[in-house]
Amino acid sequence: MVDAVNINVTKTASSKLKDLDFSNLPFGKHFTDHMLVATYADGEWQNVEIKPYQPLQLEPSLVAIHYGQSIFEGIKAYRYENGDAFIFRPHDNFKRFNTSAERMCMPAVPEEIFIGGMKQLIELDKEWIPTAADHSLYIRPFMFSTDTIIGVKPSDTYLFIIILSPTGPYYSAPMRIVVEETYTRAAPGGVGFAKNAGNYAASLLAMQLAKKQGYDQVLWTDAFEHKWLQEVGTMNVMFIINNTAVTPSLEEGTILAGVTRDTALTVLKEMGLTIEERKISIDELIDAYNDGSLKEVFGTGTAATISLIQELKYKDTILKFDLSKLTVAPELKRRLDNIRTGVSADTHGWMERV
Ligand SMILES: *Cc1c(COP(=O)(O)O)cnc(C)c1O
Repeated sequence: MVDAVNINVTKTASSKLKDLDFSNLPFGKHFTDHMLVATYADGEWQNVEIKPYQPLQLEPSLVAIHYGQSIFEGIKAYRYENGDAFIFRPHDNFKRFNTSAERMCMPAVPEEIFIGGMKQLIELDKEWIPTAADHSLYIRPFMFSTDTIIGVKPSDTYLFIIILSPTGPYYSAPMRIVVEETYTRAAPGGVGFAKNAGNYAASLLAMQLAKKQGYDQVLWTDAFEHKWLQEVGTMNVMFIINNTAVTPSLEEGTILAGVTRDTALTVLKEMGLTIEERKISIDELIDAYNDGSLKEVFGTGTAATISLIQELKYKDTILKFDLSKLTVAPELKRRLDNIRTGVSADTHGWMERV
C-alpha cells in the first residue's frame, strides 16, 4: 500500500520560494525546499525521510563514484488552475526504474517509497510548481551505491533520493543531426535499455564531436554495421513515412523504452497513423527521403516532449526537412501538451493526482 511506509518529515526553517523567479526557470537549475532520502542497508530500505534540500556528505571511497552503479528517472508534474497537482505516468517510470535497478544489480525500490514518497514530497513543495504555459515540476528520482570499499562487486548499501526542480519551457531549436558511424551507445547484451548514469557519460564524446562539425546531436546506429537506427541523442526517434510512424523496436535491449515514446505512439494512432515498431536502416530512410515518402523525423523525451529535426547528415548525403511543411510533429506536441496540462480530457488515465 502506498501509505504503509513511515516517512519522517523535517520541514525547512526558511523557505527559498520567495527568491524564485518564476519567469526565469532554466531546466534543472533550481531545486525546491525539500528532498526525499531513503537508505538501503542490511537487506532492506530504512530511514525514509523528507528533509530540507541539502548537500550530501560522502566518503571519497564511495563505490558509485568509482564504478558507476547509479540510475535515475525523469518525470514531470503539473499544477492545474484549481490548485491540484498531477504527475504524468509515474508508475511507468517506477517500473522502468526497477528494471534499470535489476540490470545494475541494485535493490528494487518499493512503490510506497517511489510513488508514495514522491507524492508526499510534491504535496509539501506544491507551491513550487509553476503554472504558466509550458512550465512544470521536473522530478528526479535517483539511486546510487554507497559502500566505501574500492572493490568491484554489487554494493551492499544504497541511497535513493528524489529532488524536484521547477522548470520553464524547454525550448529546443529544430536540430541538425549527424548519423553516428564510429561510436556506439548500446549493443545487445549491454545496458542501453537501462537509465544508468554511465550511458550518458559514454555518449558525451560523440555529441561533442558532432557539435564541432556544427551539428547538435547524433543519431545512434547499431554496434556492428552502424546502419540500423537506434535513438537520437538521449531521445527516442520517430520517422513519419507517408501515413506511417516508424520507430525502432525494443526487443534487442538497445533502446531506452521512453514513456514519451509510448505516449506518442498511442496518440499518433489516435491521429490516424499506422504504427510500426521495427528495425529501420539508414538506407531505407534515405530511399524514403529520395522518393518523397519520408515526411518528418523527430525525437521524443520527457524534457522537451518533441524535438524537431531539420537536417540529417550521413556520409555525403544530407536530408533536409522544410519545417513549415511539418504537420504530424506539431499536432502531436499540441495533443501531448493539452493532455498533460489538463486542457484535453485524460482518456488514458495518464495523469495521477498527488
Ligand atoms: C530518458 C531517455 C529517453 C526518453 O524517455 P522518456 O521516458 O520519454 O523521458 C530516451 N532515450 C534515452 C537514452 C533516455 O535516457
